[in-house]
Amino acid sequence: MKYLLALDQGTTSSRALVIDETGKVVAVAQKEFTQIFPQPGWVEHDPNEIWASQIGVAADALGRAGISAKDVAAIGITNQRETAVVWDRKTGDPIHNAIVWQDRRTAPICDKMKADGLESMVTQKSGLVIDAYFSGTKVQWLLDNVPGARDRANRGELAFGTIDSWLIWKLTDGKVHVTDESNASRTMLLNIYNQSWDDELLKALNVPRSMLPEVKSSSEVYGESTGILAGVPIAGIAGDQQSALFGQMCTKPGMAKNTYGTGSFMLMNTGTEGVPSKNKLLTTIAWRRAGHGKTEYALEGSVFITGAVVQWLRDGLKIIHAAPQVEDLAATVPDNGGVYLVPAFVGLGAPHWDPYARGAIVGLTRGATLAHIARAALEGIAYQVADILQAMTADSGVKLAELRVDGGAAKNNLLMQFQADILGIPVVRPNETETTALGSAYLASLAVGYFKSLEELASHWGIDRTFEPKMSADQRQKLQSEWSKALGRAKGWVQ
Ligand code: ADP
Repeated sequence: MKYLLALDQGTTSSRALVIDETGKVVAVAQKEFTQIFPQPGWVEHDPNEIWASQIGVAADALGRAGISAKDVAAIGITNQRETAVVWDRKTGDPIHNAIVWQDRRTAPICDKMKADGLESMVTQKSGLVIDAYFSGTKVQWLLDNVPGARDRANRGELAFGTIDSWLIWKLTDGKVHVTDESNASRTMLLNIYNQSWDDELLKALNVPRSMLPEVKSSSEVYGESTGILAGVPIAGIAGDQQSALFGQMCTKPGMAKNTYGTGSFMLMNTGTEGVPSKNKLLTTIAWRRAGHGKTEYALEGSVFITGAVVQWLRDGLKIIHAAPQVEDLAATVPDNGGVYLVPAFVGLGAPHWDPYARGAIVGLTRGATLAHIARAALEGIAYQVADILQAMTADSGVKLAELRVDGGAAKNNLLMQFQADILGIPVVRPNETETTALGSAYLASLAVGYFKSLEELASHWGIDRTFEPKMSADQRQKLQSEWSKALGRAKGWVQ
């Protein structure tokens, strides 16, 4: 029997998962690596440590499964997105630490781009808003701040890549320099509608074309691994959120997933048409499957604080000892008692985009208890997700049939029931929650014929629990309008 190996290179840890022919995860290994904070707002990773941890956990996972490289049919890679690495093509040495997606150092570059009137061109071509989040300005910063880098880049001596590119370069011992369309769509350098690096965007960001990886589909053999994984084809790549969308089998237009982690990422498949957003969402490439022609797109919205509000109840307010206790506490009251918690601790993301918003608890009366606050915290997660879904529906014209969920806080049944109630559609939790890793392994599996079709993959996706909406439309409307009022109190708080 052969297996698939998923390399899941995340923001705080590198993970490797071995998956069998029933789509079941049979072994997992994980290693955290160093977060480097050189200044407030700056976040870096050491690319060599990322590589060492990733190849280390790959070996561990194979060991735990009791298999070796010859038992692996294909490798799929999924990764933290937007994080930028620049390295020397000859030596393979990074010229600097990787600049992580969370890093805000290039905000002034973005302000200047906006002042120069580039916003509509950038959004029209890349589907993104101008923001320090994306890779393009990070590459520009490296070229302008590492001594000699721009000259070296102009001479064609340097390579740029997101983490997928970097890992494949290392896995193939410098032979292959590629990325996939989903990762490329997060750089602000790609025209997502023709899937090509764009001269106008490259000029706006002052990044030489010679540094860029070749843009490939998300499911094809890019090359063979060397070293401890010698001979194994690397056959799937997707950015983490797109990979989760695929792992949740949201492969048809109008299907959507939401991941409830620290924050939340909701993606809706919009099929082979990229849908420009009128409601401040991102238009992004979901994936392209080689041999199936067309690029597929998604609308994406992110909420900064969802599961993290539960961490705050635990570590800040200390009203619970462990995250799962929030459900028991919230369940001791029948409703929120009129209390709303807007967790705008770091401003508000999509669709509000208000960096000046701050957290608020409103509607307090003398009857309010900690249980009401716990309940309001969970409900605040669900309202934020509902606000994004509303924007997606407005942009796409698609009425969602169900929302598929994953991530740590999706374990919370009270939250999932309230989510279904407030959305008015079923919320579906799969029994395999390793959706991010599964997605990239599944993309790889199709490229090597390990699994043959989307139908076969979908047969491995099973439901743990479906939460049916039970709330009346009147009640939903009343709660939503009170939530909107609460949002209004939180917006524009600091200057
Ligand atoms: P990340 O990948 O962002 O680290 P995870 O998917 O591991 O996140 O989820 C962790 C988050 O989920 C934490 O913010 C935690 O507070 C929250 N969480 C975990 N279990 C529960 C629960 N039972 N109810 C509510 N939130 C939870």
